[in-house]
Amino acid sequence: METKPLLIVWQDKNTVPVPQGMFPLLIINLLSHKNDYCTVDFPQSTFSPLDPQYYRYRDALSLWIKIKIRVWKRYTLHIINHYTHIEVYFVGSVQKAKQICPYIRKLVMKAVSDSAKAINIEYNHVTAFSCPKRSTCYCVVDVEEEDFETNCTSCADSADISGDSYWCWFGIVDCDSKIIMSDSGHSQVLNVCDLDDILTDLKDGHYYSSDWKDLGLKLGLYDTTLSAIESNYFDVEDRLRKCIVKWLQRANGVDDKGGPTWTTLVRALEQCDSKPTAEHIRYNRFKRNANQSQTDDELCPPTSKKNKHKP
Ligand SMILES: [Zn+2]
Repeated sequence: METKPLLIVWQDKNTVPVPQGMFPLLIINLLSHKNDYCTVDFPQSTFSPLDPQYYRYRDALSLWIKIKIRVWKRYTLHIINHYTHIEVYFVGSVQKAKQICPYIRKLVMKAVSDSAKAINIEYNHVTAFSCPKRSTCYCVVDVEEEDFETNCTSCADSADISGDSYWCWFGIVDCDSKIIMSDSGHSQVLNVCDLDDILTDLKDGHYYSSDWKDLGLKLGLYDTTLSAIESNYFDVEDRLRKCIVKWLQRANGVDDKGGPTWTTLVRALEQCDSKPTAEHIRYNRFKRNANQSQTDDELCPPTSKKNKHKP
């Protein structure tokens, strides 16, 4: 089963063409993304932006994304400028896509936002899928909390978009593909001594520190606490650290959300669209102790396999 391409579409009441200058800037922004656990490059031994070939193929580029989750793994992405929209095509099975595409989507959408900012245009880009009913229509994805739905831009009756080949981009995965662990034994309450372990796990799991506020809310901290952190600290890493400290100190409504445990952290990460990080921590913290005698059905009852696009 092939992964369906993710489309980036611009809207201004109606669908509008890709803004002038957006595509090359998007590529440049993606290529400039480099940190300890993720790098983006042109495929080796092809062309460089200094090569005239680059300009010949400028409407369709391949990128190598190398990501470290325990070990380095390389993925290939094709990015195509169709002028009406930009297509992001993941090379690989749906199984592979499920693990990494939610992260890739965030990476690409952040590069689009950064490009929009650089050329001083509004953030009116949305993610969509190609409509299976008609070629001139887009199925625009509406993300609301953990609910995902698509609406057609021109079909009277919106097409039905379902299945992992589409929803793998949004971290909506079937239960049997997850690394499923028993939560028992991971409910011991964490304290400030665990701060370093938590921050290391978040970093190794590619957590976007700039999303710290969403995480804080899901962990049970109040908006006033988070706003205070925001005004006292200017660096996102400091804000994230302070936010985790508040959580470990069981401030605000933390105990109502289950208190500071690895389990509640994983759940909160899943709720704020940081599934790859949640998977990393789950693997790192839970798998080694998972009770091998338990069957998948016990850990993940079939009733939780949903038809709706909900985790
Ligand atoms: Zn349609």
